[in-house]
Amino acid sequence: MKISDILSLKKPSLSFEVFPPKRDKPLEGTKEIVSEIALTHPSFMSVTYGAAGGNTSANTLAIAEHLMHKCSVNVLAHLTCVGSTHQSISSEIAKFKNAGIENILCLRGDMPGGDSITEKSDFVHAVDLVKKLSSEGFCLGGACYPEMHPESEHITDDIAHLKEKVDAGLHFLTTQMFFDNNVYFHFLSRLRDAGVTVPVIAGIMPVTNGRQIKRICDLAGTYLPPRFRAIVDRFGEDPVAMLDAGCAYATEQIIDLFANGVNFVHVYTMNKPELARRVMGNLKGIVSGR
Ligand code: FAD
Repeated sequence: MKISDILSLKKPSLSFEVFPPKRDKPLEGTKEIVSEIALTHPSFMSVTYGAAGGNTSANTLAIAEHLMHKCSVNVLAHLTCVGSTHQSISSEIAKFKNAGIENILCLRGDMPGGDSITEKSDFVHAVDLVKKLSSEGFCLGGACYPEMHPESEHITDDIAHLKEKVDAGLHFLTTQMFFDNNVYFHFLSRLRDAGVTVPVIAGIMPVTNGRQIKRICDLAGTYLPPRFRAIVDRFGEDPVAMLDAGCAYATEQIIDLFANGVNFVHVYTMNKPELARRVMGNLKGIVSGR
């Protein structure tokens, strides 16, 4: 099923994100984990993709196929273009089509180790990938950043580039994680003012590791509201307590989003079935599963 069709239902729904194993690592363990997550009946699951040199592209496809064909879940396959040639992307597209993938999240990706984009790359920005895929019949999504992409100097420039990316053929956007819903609503209103009309799926991360989240937020410039910072300060070093607190905080954020008219929330469950079970369990009277 195309994600644009799921989004057109306009009912509260959750999707979950998983990542494939690294190259040469066995697929079986990950298949078991993603199968457990699929049992919670999200409206779709997304599978991340290793950017150039990340070496997980074949595994992305294997996990996506497993989810579609063994778990009967709608799948969104991520695809990055940095460091790729037209030929290599065409080959990936052919494999995606053969596997029956209908939905692709078009991403630039980051060069491993922060290297700058080399002359080997035929793609500079995600918009280049969107242009290449726009006539291939997929439902296409893209990433967006309510607190601005870290490489952007000003949110106005970031939104102008985002509009260009959407106009090139995107059907929806998914946000980077945020911990203050006002950030999302403010961003959404700026997008609408700029003429970006596609659905904007809100990305929510239930935090289970206090130290890790502080590091990520420092790097990406993500705002930690005092109420959430207090939770991380108090429970961040205790995984059992942080799991409880992180799921409760994420659940509250999602309920507030739904209550204020948002219908689509993407949960960064990563490969943690317990997170998916808890969040879905907390919301089972609110969301419609597949
Ligand atoms: P772009 O849309 O190209 O934007 C990147 C930067 O370039 C922004 O600052 C933008 O303003 C600027 N820009 C865009 N177009 C232009 C232009 N024409 N001229 C000048 N500047 C421009 N990474 C992975 O490796 N694998 C994944 O599976 C993955 N999944 C993700 C899922 C989501 C929902 C999100 C939010 C991110 C994901 N990422 C993933 C991370 C992503 O690849 C990085 O954040 C990367 O730095 C930017 O990717 P993008 O597609 O947003 O890039």
